[in-house]
Amino acid sequence: MSASATLVLQDHSRLIFSALGDSLTYGYLVQEGYLDMVEAGLRRSLPNTDVRVLNHGVCGDTIFDGIGRAGEAFFSTCPDVGLIQFGLNDCFSGISPSEFSQGLEELLGTCRTRVPAMKVVLIPPPPVRDPGFDRAAQPFRDAKVAAAGRHGAVAARVAELWGALHAADLPRATNHEPRATSHEPPATASPPETLWLSDGVHPSMAGYRRMAWAVLEALGVPPAADVKVRAHHLLCLLAFAGEGYSDTFEQEFGRLARTYRTSGKLMEIVCGSDEACAACPHLGAEGCRSAEDGPEPRVLELDNAVLDALGLRPGLFESSFLLARVRALSPALLHSLCSKCSWYGKLPCQERILSGA
Ligand code: SF4
Repeated sequence: MSASATLVLQDHSRLIFSALGDSLTYGYLVQEGYLDMVEAGLRRSLPNTDVRVLNHGVCGDTIFDGIGRAGEAFFSTCPDVGLIQFGLNDCFSGISPSEFSQGLEELLGTCRTRVPAMKVVLIPPPPVRDPGFDRAAQPFRDAKVAAAGRHGAVAARVAELWGALHAADLPRATNHEPRATSHEPPATASPPETLWLSDGVHPSMAGYRRMAWAVLEALGVPPAADVKVRAHHLLCLLAFAGEGYSDTFEQEFGRLARTYRTSGKLMEIVCGSDEACAACPHLGAEGCRSAEDGPEPRVLELDNAVLDALGLRPGLFESSFLLARVRALSPALLHSLCSKCSWYGKLPCQERILSGA
């Protein structure tokens, strides 16, 4: 069998994904781990498929623990795709890279005999904050890549995509690359340390987002946005404190605002109607028809002005990246962008946008 860069998933009536791993697969101490994000991405990309993702992650496990419990958990449902993630506990508990490779051989051999048709994705350990530990983990990453080559499996590009600041860094994420500008992303846009929890080993949600990108890429599924937001709403969502055009609109705007403030979410930024407009009583066939804030050409002009100020073009971006860019805008620039809005002056918009309240 030869190694391939991605698996190609077809829209079947049902696909079972079974994931075997340690606390990273379990999703230790986060609201959403990489597996939750992978499941959401699969459901969006395969709308006609009953996608089932089974999480067999156990904190502290090594590959040998995984081999011991694979029979009753991992193989029992005859999964279509098996995701195998181990390595950091092995590394930190004194298992050598060659012992780890032998364990991988055994597990992959069992995969072939127990579920011959199962496609396998191997998930190498993500980077670790401490450079010494990170160097020690490298042979375990290499072992996964080599094993994928020997067994016709796919190795997810976890370490490679860990450094991606936002989704536009992904080759297949979008056709809209950010425009080169005189002002580069602020240093705080996506500081590397935010990719881990305080232990420097377990990923934060932003780190898990990168793992999810790598796994979805290995499965041949392009990144998809969690929400679609028109550009000027990047300002309004930060100023929002519950006031809006209708109850439905306020609920929708609240949902978008929470997503925006959650690290690691993927947002599609557009010029034109978004998910908030869809819930707004002012949306008509021709776009925004608000007497105070519209019509659509004027709102579009504002979308474009906001993108210009941020030095971006429409596309997919990570929430924390966008948040940091908006908060780096000067008060004078914010004033010139917002001063024609009917809400400006009635609410302390600028303070809310810049304070992060
Ligand atoms: S007022 Fe116009 S731009 Fe604002 S949410 Fe409603 S439709 Fe969209």
